Amino acid sequence: MKIFSLHSAKNKNTMKVLKFGGTSVGTVSSINSVISIITENHNKNLSQVVVSSALSGVTNKLIAMGKLAAESNDSYLETLKEIENRHYDVVKALIDVKSQSKVFANLKIVFNELEDLLHGIFLIKEVSVRTLDLVVSFGERLSNYILAEILTIKGIAANYVDARTLIKTDNNFGNARVNFEVSNALIQKHFAANYSAIQIVTGFISSTDKNETTTLGRGGSDYTAAILGAALDVEVIEIWTDVDGILTSDPRVVKKAFTLPTVSYIEAMEMSHFGAKVIYPPTVQPAFAKSIPIRIKNTFNPSFEGTLISNKAESGNFIIKGISSIGDTALLNVQGGGMVGITGISGRLFSALARQQVNVILITQASSEFSISLAVDPSDAERAKEVIEEEFAHEIRGNKIEPVVIETGLSVVAVIGENMKENSGISAKLFSALGMNGVNVKAIAQGSSEYNISVVVKKIDLSKSLNALHEAFFLSDVKTLNLYIVGLGLIGKTLIKQIQNQSEYLAKKHSLTINLVGLANSKKMLLSNDSIEIESWEENWEKNGTETNLAEFVNTIKSYNLPNCVFVDNTSSKEVVTHYNDLLAASVSIVTPNKLANSGTYAEYKQLRKLAKKHGVKFLYETNVGAGLPVINTLEDLLTSGDEIIRIEAILSGTLSFIFNSFKEGVRFVDIVKEAKEKGFTEPDPRDDLSGMDVARKILILARDSGLELEPNDIEVENILPKSCNDAKTVEDFFVELENENQFFENRRKQAENEGKVLRFIATLENGKASVTLRAVDATHPFYSLSGSDNIISFTTERYKERPLVIKGPGAGAEVTAAGVFADIVKVFHYLV
Ligand code: ADP
Ligand code: ASP
Ligand code: MG
Repeated sequence: MKIFSLHSAKNKNTMKVLKFGGTSVGTVSSINSVISIITENHNKNLSQVVVSSALSGVTNKLIAMGKLAAESNDSYLETLKEIENRHYDVVKALIDVKSQSKVFANLKIVFNELEDLLHGIFLIKEVSVRTLDLVVSFGERLSNYILAEILTIKGIAANYVDARTLIKTDNNFGNARVNFEVSNALIQKHFAANYSAIQIVTGFISSTDKNETTTLGRGGSDYTAAILGAALDVEVIEIWTDVDGILTSDPRVVKKAFTLPTVSYIEAMEMSHFGAKVIYPPTVQPAFAKSIPIRIKNTFNPSFEGTLISNKAESGNFIIKGISSIGDTALLNVQGGGMVGITGISGRLFSALARQQVNVILITQASSEFSISLAVDPSDAERAKEVIEEEFAHEIRGNKIEPVVIETGLSVVAVIGENMKENSGISAKLFSALGMNGVNVKAIAQGSSEYNISVVVKKIDLSKSLNALHEAFFLSDVKTLNLYIVGLGLIGKTLIKQIQNQSEYLAKKHSLTINLVGLANSKKMLLSNDSIEIESWEENWEKNGTETNLAEFVNTIKSYNLPNCVFVDNTSSKEVVTHYNDLLAASVSIVTPNKLANSGTYAEYKQLRKLAKKHGVKFLYETNVGAGLPVINTLEDLLTSGDEIIRIEAILSGTLSFIFNSFKEGVRFVDIVKEAKEKGFTEPDPRDDLSGMDVARKILILARDSGLELEPNDIEVENILPKSCNDAKTVEDFFVELENENQFFENRRKQAENEGKVLRFIATLENGKASVTLRAVDATHPFYSLSGSDNIISFTTERYKERPLVIKGPGAGAEVTAAGVFADIVKVFHYLV
């Protein structure tokens, strides 16, 4: 029935509905913004209907007061006073003094009514959902009344309307269903009679045919706006809130979420049903039915376009539209051998749940038909279990179906978009992004419409899941690695500098941002779940760092649970290594030059790889051998491509390389060692280098990476020092002994020289055995002409049999080591893409 002529589908009423959410009317300054938005429309002669929520937080407080009063706790009176003052403050700030008294008087009447109501609850010690609806109705009644007064006093004709006179519902208190026929008629009649003043209508509230107060469900003011808009066939329904429209994901969780310019009705419905609070789910329906566009706008950024919800949403550049989530869900698992192949089980299951009004968020059935899982609100879980067990009591008694198991502490994450059905590979992308971050998917459901793929994950993984998925689906242009760095010595500092210098290049060439989130040395640590500015890291860390506690550092990493994390260990500390397993198990990749983890027991070596694999992360250590030289990667590439290692020979210590390369006729061995020490090439005690232990660790790692299950003791290491040198108490004594033994070294050199050879301290891996020995090599050997402190590694393989594959270059130094670590970090990222 059309009441007035402007109602025509073709010629939409030029009126619009503006709905302001609680956050838009939270403070004096935000109410000011609301007033100026309305005023601007007014000045443009635009016809408008205004719907407002209660001042932000007031609905929650009203509910709390009702409950306190029912518990005979008179502290509700304090809250009442607080709410009263909040409203009075708005009046004081926005209405001129001479007009205030009338408004105060009217507000006082309403507050007295509220106080009487709460007192009644206090006396009868009980509050029903029915009474609570009446209690919460005060929130919208107060805010809209004040809004109407402010406008009127400003000279803009405005009329306060209690929506209980317009929107009629059933008596399902708390979440009432609208009787559209009656409501539409009432709305149309009201507006036909009141066309000149702006109607300021209470959101959220409604009433039954017996005039009992009902509400449309939490967040229901959006719905009020849509009901009015549809009844009046307006041009557009504007939902004014505190964000720039519908974003790709909840901006409170996903910092990089961005506004979607257009969204289809279906997409908006899917997103809101799956937790995007920006619009109350039922809102879309009335608008959709009449093809009335909804625009989501930001009260605090009114000139921004926001999001348009309509029939024709652009597909945009992305295969999905948005990612939503439901924070708290419970999963019910119904299973049993008696379900297999039996028709009607799910029919009975869902009818039973529907009868008891249990809302099922998501359903999955294994193709074996052995089990059905369903996600419900946790508050419904116990009831749902009872309903199901009652429905299947017979089957449960006969052991055909098992008792229902409830799992809590879960969340649902949904990727949404109408475009999804035309694109393959969405699930693959979803699972790889989650898998890469160690997120275990408990259940998955894809609506047959293919507008939505939902997964159930643990609640503790929710934020990480949303961010990882957002990155995977929307930020294919730029990926972020979150970096924790332990060890801020020369290598650590150089690494940070290199990352800083390369950031532009990485962003441009690799679409990669490296985000520093944690720093520690043995004394101080600094952590951030957002970002540590790289330019000023050192001042920040010096100033704000706290005393280092590695266990706490690692626990914080776990509690942040950020996506795409890399932990860099630039130390040579055993203690840091003890945390590796824990980090990998938390899906944090590790990059390190620290050899200790790989050169402990074989079981430890194996465990690291097992954990990395299990949790979808990387453990990279190219700099364990030959610093920045590509040794580990080359070996891996050879093996992956099917080559077989026959022999590895290598000079793996820059110090020993320098010493023996310089050991020529006319130079004393002791003087070379002294020179090496002076140049800073050796450990403080050069015997730590000459013992060959460090080289042994490196060849052990190469041996293990070649597939050999060797233990540290299996490496045969030649002790090249005479006993007197080994026994010397101090470094000075050692040099004295080394001088005394000059002839011993000279003899070895001379003997080699006589055979046309030179001495080289070589690590060898051959026939399953690894050794580190001082050998004499002739001119045909690739190590013969080595000079300086270079490392050299020669791989003799099935393919490189005639002439081995040789890698040669500086095998130590902060610059090259940091660069190797850096390359590994970027490599982690490439695995993630
Ligand atoms: P109002 O008080 O205006 O009704 P709400 O708090 O009900 O506002 O809804 C707006 C909030 O919804 C935003 O502040 C934002 O935190 C949240 N939100 C959740 N998901 C999304 C999303 N995908 N896009 C925009 N906002 C979202
Ligand atoms: N004030 C109500 C609530 O907080 C309705 C709304 O804000 O939309 O739920
Ligand atoms: Mg809302």
